[in-house]
Amino acid sequence: FVFGKKKAIEVAHKVWEHVVRKGDLVIDATCGNGYDTFTLLKMVADESQQGRVYGFDVQKAALESTSSLLEQSICSNEKDLVKLFQKCHSKMADVLPEDTLVRLVAFNLGYLPGGDKTIITEPRTTVEALKVSKDILMPGGLISLVVYVGHPGGGQELKTVEEFSSELPVENWIGCKFQMLNRPLSPVLIFLFKKC
Ligand code: SAM
Repeated sequence: FVFGKKKAIEVAHKVWEHVVRKGDLVIDATCGNGYDTFTLLKMVADESQQGRVYGFDVQKAALESTSSLLEQSICSNEKDLVKLFQKCHSKMADVLPEDTLVRLVAFNLGYLPGGDKTIITEPRTTVEALKVSKDILMPGGLISLVVYVGHPGGGQELKTVEEFSSELPVENWIGCKFQMLNRPLSPVLIFLFKKC
């Protein structure tokens, strides 16, 4: 695929496809309108009904929007594979089954498109959530972030995510960033692969 012709989120989905397997447990840390939750569900769902997507958002409106998208787009036997929580993503470990490791944690930061633009992801809780993600991720797993820089606070959030990512030990992690150099306000993609 050609990076320049795709939206950042589509590029992220392509990367997820190379990591996520049928039957996996994955996390959508920012459900929003549910497009990523739906995409992840399609990646993990199989006949064995083992795959699971745990989705988080702090806003009731976002979870309603996600539920409504799923309601329209998935078969009834897939409904039980998605678990949605109105909770800050920094608390994601509290609701996971004990001793469970996940294949992917996906963050799509910023505000709810079409919603309240004052409710945004914040650097402090984003970093808390990244610390938790690091611990619950299985070897071979991925933390994926789409970071928007066009809204107030977006640049600071990117800086915070970059600082966290740069400090990950090189023996265990591959951290990389994709950024459009000639479109400074386009979203930045950060992928953190856990080696072991
Ligand atoms: N993934 C979404 C989709 O496919 O439509 C888009 C996500 S949207 C850019 C960001 C979402 O993060 C918003 O819905 C917002 O409510 C949510 N959010 C903000 N702070 C959060 C937090 N601390 N924990 C979880 N979600 C949060």
